[in-house]
Amino acid sequence: MDKISYIKTQIETNTGIIIDDNKADQLLQYYDMIIEKNQVMNLTAITDFEEFVAKHFVDSLSLCRLQDIKKVLDNLQDNEKSGGSGCKLIDIGTGAGFPGVPLKIVYPELDVTLFDSLQKRLTFLDDVISKLGLKKIQTLHGRAEEFGRKLDYREKYDIVVSRAVAELTTLCELALPFCKVGGSFISYKGGKGNEELQNAQYAIKELGGKTGSLIEYSFLALDENNERILVEICKVKSTNPKYPRGGGKPFKTPLHMV
Ligand code: SAM
Repeated sequence: MDKISYIKTQIETNTGIIIDDNKADQLLQYYDMIIEKNQVMNLTAITDFEEFVAKHFVDSLSLCRLQDIKKVLDNLQDNEKSGGSGCKLIDIGTGAGFPGVPLKIVYPELDVTLFDSLQKRLTFLDDVISKLGLKKIQTLHGRAEEFGRKLDYREKYDIVVSRAVAELTTLCELALPFCKVGGSFISYKGGKGNEELQNAQYAIKELGGKTGSLIEYSFLALDENNERILVEICKVKSTNPKYPRGGGKPFKTPLHMV
């Protein structure tokens, strides 16, 4: 099977999303760019094509396992045609672009911000955006605990996502300030997600959130380390302006320890 067909089949089998050849080709070009850049910059430890498709593409798109989010994403085209307000997503600690870039390629109407504290990864992502001709997608450089306080970014996003950045209690303090009331923060976690969620209960409430759906999945039996959990936190109340705290406190004294 050629690479385009492989990407399409894996995505459809594991997420139910059907993509056309053009989107699969964009994903393949993105893979090629990462593999090339990975020789001079640390972007990913996963380079084998099949493993990459599973652990980066399929995993990023697993967001659609959340039915309320899938409904929003599926309706984006109609929303745009009818002059709706659209949907803004920010990916906190995007690294080489996961999960933000695959979501953008598959849902072109989504307005995506790729946020990271490391400028050189964002410079690479600017090249990806330009080469693939993606619109309504921008990179943003800074630290989440600082940008979450800025009025231009605070409570401005319908969907906040983050994968492999910090333990959930810390992450809630970094991510929930970006989320609009009525929006959702979705954290992509490994096998310990349930435990982290228990520890994060105080932080979630304190930051204006409420635990939503929890989806456990394993996407391919490639190795033993494929347990995944998506944790959805719904934003039900505005976050108190004292959060996020400065001076590295979200990391040093996460809210369950305060
Ligand atoms: N999300 C990607 C993925 O799943 O492949 C990258 C994960 S990588 C392990 C963590 C990324 O988070 C790094 O690119 C790092 O620069 C970024 N990061 C860590 N702390 C951050 C912070 N406080 N604000 C913004 N970005 C941060």
